[in-house]
This record gives sequence, C-alpha cells and structure tokens, in this order.
Amino acid sequence: MTRIAIMGAAGRMGRVLIQAVAQEEQAELAAAIVRPDSSMIGVDIGELAGLGRLGVATLGDVRQAADDIDVLIDFTTPALTLDNLAFCADHGKAIVIGTTGFSEDELAVLDGYKERVPMVFAANMSTGVNLLVNLLETAARALGEAGYDIEIIEAHHRQKVDAPSGTALMLGQAVAAPLGRTLKEHGVFSREGQCGPRRDDEIGFATVRAGDIVGEHTVLFATEGERIELTHKASSRMTFGKGAVRAACWVADQPADRYDMQDVLGLK
Ligand code: NAD
Repeated sequence: MTRIAIMGAAGRMGRVLIQAVAQEEQAELAAAIVRPDSSMIGVDIGELAGLGRLGVATLGDVRQAADDIDVLIDFTTPALTLDNLAFCADHGKAIVIGTTGFSEDELAVLDGYKERVPMVFAANMSTGVNLLVNLLETAARALGEAGYDIEIIEAHHRQKVDAPSGTALMLGQAVAAPLGRTLKEHGVFSREGQCGPRRDDEIGFATVRAGDIVGEHTVLFATEGERIELTHKASSRMTFGKGAVRAACWVADQPADRYDMQDVLGLK
C-alpha cells in the first residue's frame, strides 16, 4: 500500500487527485496539504473533495505528515514544488511532480535533486498524451525531414497561468529532438505584424485561453497538398489524476532518479 500526500489539495487538480487516490486500491490517502493560511486546515480530506468523511484532517504543513507518507503528489507552483523537493530529500520521500511553468534556473534546481529523490516529473500525466509523444517521434522523422512545416496549437481554461502549456513544450521537444532541432533555437512562440514568411525549420506554437477547456493539443504537419494533425483532447482532469496516482505507486519502489511518464507506462 502506497501512502500518498496531496499537495495543494484545495486546487483544481488537488481535489481531483484526492478522488483518484480514493479510487485506487493500492494507494492510501495519508495527508492533504493546503496553504498555511487556509481556512480549510482541519477540514476532513474527503469532505474537501466531496467524497464524504474519510477521517483524515487537512494540514497546513507537509512536515506534520512526515511519518505517515511515502510519496507526495504535487500539482502546485514551481516555488512550492522546489520547497517540497527539499522536504523529500531531507525525509527520504518520493515525489510525483505535475507542476508546470518552471524557469530554466528552477529546472536546474529540480534536476539537482535526482540523486537524492525518486521523482516522476511530467508536464502531462495522461496515458494518451504520453502515447502521442511516441507517435510524434515517428511522425517527425518521416515528415520533418521531408519538408513538412510543424506547428503546435494548444487550448486551456481561462485560469491557466503559464503559456505555452508544459504539454505543448513537451510535444515540441518530442518533434524537435529526432530532427536535431531545439526549442530554444527553432521554437517560435509569437507572431505579430510584418514578421515575414516562416522558416522551414521553425516549430511554431499558438495558444488559446478560454472558458473551462481542460486541455487540447494539436501537432500539425503541413506541406503543399496535404496536412496531418495529431490531436489529444482531455475532457476531464481525472485522466491526469489517474496517471499521477499510477506514477506515485510506481515511483515509491524506485531508486533516486528523475523519471517521466514514459518510464511509468513502460513506453521507453
Ligand atoms: P490551481 O491554482 O487550481 O491549484 C494550485 C494549488 O496550489 C492551489 O490550491 C494553491 O492554493 C496551492 N498552493 C500554492 N502555493 C501553496 C503553498 N505555499 N502551500 C500550499 N498550497 C499552495 O492550479 P491547477 O489547475 O490545479 O494546476 C496546478 C499545476 O498543475 C499547474 O502548474 C498546472 O499547469 C499543472 N497541471 C499539470 C497537469 C499534468 O498532467 N502534469 C495537469 C493539469 C495541471
């Protein structure tokens, strides 16, 4: 049985994660953490997620649960995730990180914990998107070298704070790598005014923010005469929740290292 703590339990993903852990027989909901100034501290975890009473009170500090948990699931903010990594390193815990929007400096700090913490870090925990990453590597090899233009279009709900989405960047990375391109050099993240025709080797990103869209990504390969579009649409956050719980049960038994969902799903 894997004892799981949910960080940011009051957030959009936090509530879904509580439900996902409750549905998994191999996992136990051991703690739920909210902001230290939250009025929800002390509230029953199950009631927080609309599941009825589960008998576990919400906490304002993960250190209070240090003896009761094996793995943290963290879908919060980059700053809080880095604090939680320090906690995991000090207390011998594993972590599943779904947070997106890290700067390059923050990513370097995150990566520095891989010798001390077993971690799964993935901008998208859904099985479908991770399969899409595999399909894209094949498509990029076949089409990118044949001169097809590559563009990535993503849409999310109006509250999302980072752009383009971590998933769009992950998909961009999946098409860039087999073509020997990098997003730093070939990624085009905005176009406005007289920006001229596109370069052959650029990888363009376009972002939509509207309403309650859970997450949609299309990778478009286009040339004269045809286009291919590979699209993933998430219709419920539960797809991320179930993936994260699967990752938590998996990483609890792994040695310290940085893993992704391809490792968890055996797609490598
Ligand atoms: P949200 O704003 O609803 O939730 C974030 C939660 O973190 C909030 O409840 C907030 O109170 C909490 N938080 C922030 N600072 C805190 C602190 N110091 N202590 C305790 N709690 C704190 O956002 P969300 O939609 O749930 O998304 C969270 C993150 O997960 C984003 O980065 C998003 O992009 C990412 N996400 C990833 C996936 C994936 O599959 N990897 C899927 C969906 C969302």
